[in-house]
Amino acid sequence: MSRYNSEEALTKASLVASQEQLFRCPICKSSMRVNRLSSLDCSNGHCFDISKHGYVNLLPRPSKSKYDKSLFVSRSMISNSGFFDPLIEYVCDLLIRRRESHSEIQTLLDAGCGEGSHLRSIISNLEERPGRKRYLGTGIDIAKEGILLASKASPDLVWCVADLANSPFADRQFDAIVNILSPSNYAEFGRLLKEDGVLIKVIPGKSYLQELRELLYGRKSRERDSSGHTIGLFSRYFELIETKEIRYRKRLSPEESSLLVQMTPLAWGASPELKMSDNLPRELEVTVDFTVLYGKPKPVPAAEESI
Ligand SMILES: [Zn+2]
Repeated sequence: MSRYNSEEALTKASLVASQEQLFRCPICKSSMRVNRLSSLDCSNGHCFDISKHGYVNLLPRPSKSKYDKSLFVSRSMISNSGFFDPLIEYVCDLLIRRRESHSEIQTLLDAGCGEGSHLRSIISNLEERPGRKRYLGTGIDIAKEGILLASKASPDLVWCVADLANSPFADRQFDAIVNILSPSNYAEFGRLLKEDGVLIKVIPGKSYLQELRELLYGRKSRERDSSGHTIGLFSRYFELIETKEIRYRKRLSPEESSLLVQMTPLAWGASPELKMSDNLPRELEVTVDFTVLYGKPKPVPAAEESI
């Protein structure tokens, strides 16, 4: 490693050091300190390396992710094309609404952040708004490939490879948690949020990319509508303040259509042949359809359950 790269790695590790109060050991739950800007150690001697890119791998054991690098690269490119912008704008409206009466520095966790595009977009959107406050953005995902891309693209945010079911954060650390198109662990969200914190969960609506699905699977293909089940579970753990459908149209180039197919194959159960489909039209207009759930913790947590 060159001297320059070495200094750069130290700068990135110092960001984790400045936020060490966020963490607790995923093995023994004790507090953690950054040691020599090279690892995050708990008081019982469990050590987790800080990578040269600045992210921390807090998985007690390596985990095999079902998502590979190409999926995260596709999602990053789609995100950069503005595909999610109206959704991000609304998520930021909700975050702004909450912050008016709160402290100058806001802590925000993206639970299941993947390659970090959404968190990056949210932080830059918020910081461009009037009366801006500082945001400390933290992203967590079990997929190391995603976190590696995230830490390279946004070294100014905190990134962790970790298991949401056993998250490496101390109680009551976050003003807000966003959970976008990713599984939830509501018991953990309740533990991690400050008492007056907020949870924003985004799920696909039933019309999400229906035109693309029909092309690939035929006219009868429909997104499974599980929003009722998700809202029910959300409401068991959180007080649901607001539900909003965000629906818009997006014109896609063949390349963008292909990227979308690549980034969502598992959700659709597509076969490899379909994923490789080169029969996509030159231009396709699709429906983008999300449901956004916005809530705050209930005073008494219910039994643990995940979806
Ligand atoms: Zn420990």
